Amino acid sequence: MRLAVAGGLACAISLVCVPDVAANECPGNPDALGVSRVLEVDTSGGPRLGRLQYGQTLDLEPKEVVLTFDDGPHPRYTRRILKALDRECVKATFFPVGVWARQIPHVLRLVAERGHTVGTHTWSHPLHLGRLSFASAQQQIEKGIAAIETALGRPPAPFFRFPGLNHTRKLKDYLGTRDTAVFSCDIATDDWRGIGPRTILRRTLARLRRKGRGIVLFHDTKSSTAKALPKLLRALKQGGYRIVHIVPREAPAPVPSAVIVAQTDSDDREQTQAR
Ligand SMILES: [Zn+2]
Repeated sequence: MRLAVAGGLACAISLVCVPDVAANECPGNPDALGVSRVLEVDTSGGPRLGRLQYGQTLDLEPKEVVLTFDDGPHPRYTRRILKALDRECVKATFFPVGVWARQIPHVLRLVAERGHTVGTHTWSHPLHLGRLSFASAQQQIEKGIAAIETALGRPPAPFFRFPGLNHTRKLKDYLGTRDTAVFSCDIATDDWRGIGPRTILRRTLARLRRKGRGIVLFHDTKSSTAKALPKLLRALKQGGYRIVHIVPREAPAPVPSAVIVAQTDSDDREQTQAR
């Protein structure tokens, strides 16, 4: 079985791993939040995860939290998000958009170099994939994956999130055929609504208290999120929450070359929906 992360962590039994970063091992921050464990996700068959939309989610214990960030990489805010995560030695999962990864691949590489998990979130973030033809929607998914692979120099995790969480049965089934997990979330932060950092902090913590655990959905394209994150991570530590870092159990499948097409100008115009 593959090792989940560097640094000697081995998962002998799936979903039960040795703690990764003890808080007292975080350079310059002995009271860091850290990562309490790494959870390997079996993506075979394309599991659908997150109780906001599905009947199941990750196998988390009470007070366990998985942090996720959509829509990046962003030229300003992704770095600030990374800095806040680094400060607490926390690992998260990112769902970047293909066109942005192509424009600023060096920012996405920073995400991967810090050990965060990188999934995908389509090529140009059409808000309703279901309104496209199936072939176009499939191409959005595959081109997004290919763009992230090009930016990183290796395949992304087989983790996918639908733009706007707008899924369709047919596309979920398609993702299932390529063993790609579909991530919804358990806790929305509303950071896409243009709310301020204090509201993000308050709503996120209130929802976490109510649900007790879960996948939390942020955007690394929002200044309010970047501002809220340091305090939010401190509040998680003080509230006794523990961070779980998710990784795929198996190496991702290669992108089928048949569905990757040449880049066109019209593809770039679609990106207006991404931010
Ligand atoms: Zn999005």
